[in-house]
Amino acid sequence: MKRYRTSTLFAVLPFVGLLGVVPGASAYDEHQRLHNDLKEEHSATHEDLNTEHKAAHEGLGAIHRQAHNQPMTKWQHRRLHRGLRRAHRAEHGALNTEHQAAHEELNTEHRDYHDESR
Ligand SMILES: [Zn+2]
Ligand SMILES: [Zn+2]
Ligand SMILES: [Zn+2]
Ligand SMILES: [Zn+2]
Repeated sequence: MKRYRTSTLFAVLPFVGLLGVVPGASAYDEHQRLHNDLKEEHSATHEDLNTEHKAAHEGLGAIHRQAHNQPMTKWQHRRLHRGLRRAHRAEHGALNTEHQAAHEELNTEHRDYHDESR
């Protein structure tokens, strides 16, 4: 975690004085760290969602393959595909909701930090 003390942090510092806001290096450090944490949390969330999505696809694919092991009428096949499509869409909706919720959580965390440091 300590590798986040980058030189960009110090490059930004002189401008702070010009703006009349002097939060001190430690506050800056903390904020930088928070941003990095949020970024990491976000990409971890994305990885989770991707894994979930992939698992859902594999599950649907397995159901499809399995169904094809049995003889099906054209009508049954159409019905199966409609069901798979619906399940896929529902899965995407759930993932989207999860994604949005994760973003809101991250945003709230970030906003809270800025409100508190005001
Ligand atoms: Zn995202
Ligand atoms: Zn999908
Ligand atoms: Zn099929
Ligand atoms: Zn911030």
